[in-house]
Amino acid sequence: MRARAHDGETAAVHEVEVEVSSWAISFRLGGEAQLWRMSEVEVESLGDQVRLRRRGQAARLTVAAEDWRAAVAGDAAPVERRHRRRERRLVIGLFIAAAAILLFVFVGVPLASGPLARMTPPALEESLGDTYAAQLSIAFPPCAGQEGQDVLHAFGDRLEDGMDSPFNIMVEAVEAPMVNAFALPGGRVLITGDLIAEVETPDELAAVIAHEAAHVEQRHVMQAVWRSLGLGLILDAVVGGGTGAGQQAVLLAGSVTELRYSRDAEAEADVRGQEILQSLGYSSEGMGPFFRRLAGEEQRGEPAAGVMEFLSTHPDSLRRAEASNLRARPGAPAFSPDDWRKIKAACDDQPRRPSSD
Ligand SMILES: [Zn+2]
Repeated sequence: MRARAHDGETAAVHEVEVEVSSWAISFRLGGEAQLWRMSEVEVESLGDQVRLRRRGQAARLTVAAEDWRAAVAGDAAPVERRHRRRERRLVIGLFIAAAAILLFVFVGVPLASGPLARMTPPALEESLGDTYAAQLSIAFPPCAGQEGQDVLHAFGDRLEDGMDSPFNIMVEAVEAPMVNAFALPGGRVLITGDLIAEVETPDELAAVIAHEAAHVEQRHVMQAVWRSLGLGLILDAVVGGGTGAGQQAVLLAGSVTELRYSRDAEAEADVRGQEILQSLGYSSEGMGPFFRRLAGEEQRGEPAAGVMEFLSTHPDSLRRAEASNLRARPGAPAFSPDDWRKIKAACDDQPRRPSSD
């Protein structure tokens, strides 16, 4: 960049060549090398010219405004490129971090949940189950028919003899506006009044209860809890700032009725449930007809109130009905006619919820 230089002491004007870099300008004046840091340079605009001074000195340079802008802009470009590179690196870094979190949640946690569940001390799982049960009993109170509850409770005790599990299987009928059954951590098995109304034979009810008990035995319940806790920990770190808000969100949104098992876990519980019944001499012929009937109702488009709920947590009904039928063995009914009448009446004493009628 050409410039006219005044030394500030004489009236002499020197034509000089000025080098502009990102941090300084340099030129020779009167045989002496000059280096002015950009931070010391004062720029004064004079229309189509620009006057440059070094702070505290009398010497000055005058350059064409156009040349100055070009020199400065030419130098600014690499700075901007560096900024853009840094931004790109940041975006890529964030993308990799997000991918790592997703990988952890959807691959790492599910992979670890099985071993974690097996390592969970039974006492810890039981106390977790107590917490869930207390929470659930507000929404789904126990049915009032005590005789029916006693029959179910005794059946849970008998199932334990056919199981390889440290847990007490405690079966309870609850009021809930859906056809469903679910196992809690630690061994509670809840069956809804609507499910009791839906089953047609003792074999069908025994099959549903044994299936849920098998989820407990195989630690599927605890595995599902670990999965949702893992997700909660991540949510906590990402959105909750470690306040526990993510944990709360997962516990509230995914209460036990929402715990989902994998297809493999469902198939395993089907097989184990039938094995448990067979080892105790009970018929294992109930699951097939029950699934088949629910699936039929679904296909006819007239499912009973809440049946969809059971099918949503127990997918592939028809395929599972066929597999269950192949493995089924005849045996004693799990409930006598008298016990069956008590079970069927267990939830009749309370007025049905408006939404289920
Ligand atoms: Zn299941």
